Amino acid sequence: MKKRQVSDRIRVKRIPERGIYGREDINKIFDETFLCHISFVMDGQPFIIPTAFGRKEDVIYIHGSSKSRMLLHLESGADLALAVTHVDGLVLAKSLFHHSMNYRSVVLYGKACLVTDKNEKMEALKIISEQILKGRWNEARLPNEIELKATTVLKIQIDEASAKVRTGPPGDDKKDLDLEVWSGILPMYVGFGEPIKDSSSSIDELPQSILKKMDNG
Ligand SMILES: Cc1cc2nc3c(=O)[nH]c(=O)nc-3n(C[C@H](O)[C@H](O)[C@H](O)COP(=O)(O)OP(=O)(O)OC[C@H]3O[C@@H](n4cnc5c(N)ncnc54)[C@H](O)[C@@H]3O)c2cc1C
Repeated sequence: MKKRQVSDRIRVKRIPERGIYGREDINKIFDETFLCHISFVMDGQPFIIPTAFGRKEDVIYIHGSSKSRMLLHLESGADLALAVTHVDGLVLAKSLFHHSMNYRSVVLYGKACLVTDKNEKMEALKIISEQILKGRWNEARLPNEIELKATTVLKIQIDEASAKVRTGPPGDDKKDLDLEVWSGILPMYVGFGEPIKDSSSSIDELPQSILKKMDNG
């Protein structure tokens, strides 16, 4: 298999042993969420915008209103940086200085391009929808022509990406180890709550997409 280049801008310099560049590891971090933050510079002003995404193979798809300033700007070929973050736990040390977090995060640099092919556009919307709630695509009405026209879909190649991962206990200084302060990890999870049926919904039975999500956490 071809070895991927690690460019200088993605090489993790601060605590380099936490840097991970393998595509499979990076994909796993992408696939456990559907929320990313995308930054770009317009007229010298840096912006950052949270947005949903879906991944298939080496491509990240994002979508939104065809009037979205971010999407219009990215469509024109602007450079972007994209980040996803999972916090797995608070790392509570004996000293405040050594408090930390266990996390998995990815930073991706690149450019986006417009998805113009109708089939790919529909497929991309399905990928995003399925990444957010698997199965929902087959339960709800599909986008119609007007809705498709009002929606822009962009794709971003996953070429230049790095992950950074922290795991494990606090790293207290030796001289602090005997201090009478609770230290350890407070694990953190993201979860869904009890579904709240809309007043317009006549169906009491929960759809498969929600049942599966509640089963798998
Ligand atoms: C949930 C969370 C909380 C954090 N809290 C803090 C904090 O409070 N203070 C703090 O100093 N740092 C924190 N970090 C680490 C922070 O993300 C940076 O890694 C760190 O600050 C070093 O920044 P730098 O610009 O010097 O990195 P450098 O090592 O110089 O970055 C070089 C390149 O490495 C890659 N890289 C750097 N960081 C990450 C990352 N987190 N994920 C993926 N790729 C990365 C990027 O491609 C970047 O361009 C936190 C990280 C996470 C995920």
